[in-house]
Amino acid sequence: MSFVFTPPATVSVPVVGLVERFPVNRIYCVGRNYEEHAKEMGFTGREPPFFFLKPANALVVIEEGQTGSMPYPSMTQNFHHEIELVVAIGTGGKNIKAADAMKHIYGYAVGLDMTRRDLQNEAKKLGRPWDIGKGFDHSAPIGPITRVADAGDIENAEIYVQVNGQDRQRSDTSKLIWNIAESIEHLSAAWELQPGDLIMSGTPAGVAAVVAGDTLMGGVAGIGTLKVNVI
Ligand code: MN
Repeated sequence: MSFVFTPPATVSVPVVGLVERFPVNRIYCVGRNYEEHAKEMGFTGREPPFFFLKPANALVVIEEGQTGSMPYPSMTQNFHHEIELVVAIGTGGKNIKAADAMKHIYGYAVGLDMTRRDLQNEAKKLGRPWDIGKGFDHSAPIGPITRVADAGDIENAEIYVQVNGQDRQRSDTSKLIWNIAESIEHLSAAWELQPGDLIMSGTPAGVAAVVAGDTLMGGVAGIGTLKVNVI
């Protein structure tokens, strides 16, 4: 097969302990999935789950033991961090029941759902799509994927992010409103999940702005850590 121009390379994430990499297909994100974060955004935390997407090439892939670099994006004065547990789908499917969901998971990673909050808030107010606030270039730093068998108890894992060594977000994945299995059930009712899909599972309270020169260090217990500089 030939193309009218060279197609972009497949975006991929390293897998801890393997030479082979995880090829990324789509990135789904769960909105407002920790009650205290829903409240800080002005909601009660008692709504059904909802989803948005980022393009796969929005990832800033951080190799094991490395520090990533993320450019401060255009058009914002309020660039927010959202630390998230990322679920990597290994086996696709549609209408997956929560009871069967965990066997579709390949592994887990630590990620940041970076947000141009001012643009997202404007979109909300005007009833417009969130893409400009959420799906921009370099909006999704991610660390290596830890395979399920090597991961800790991800249902009861501390999740945190520090900026320049100071705590910004610190919570526990047990506080997810819709847990991983339930999120997969809802998501796969709307889309047929495919191998390579990533799910950013939501962020706890404490979202706030970063500026150029800041260093973010985040983690999920049993999965690892992620370090990225805003440049
Ligand atoms: Mn998020």
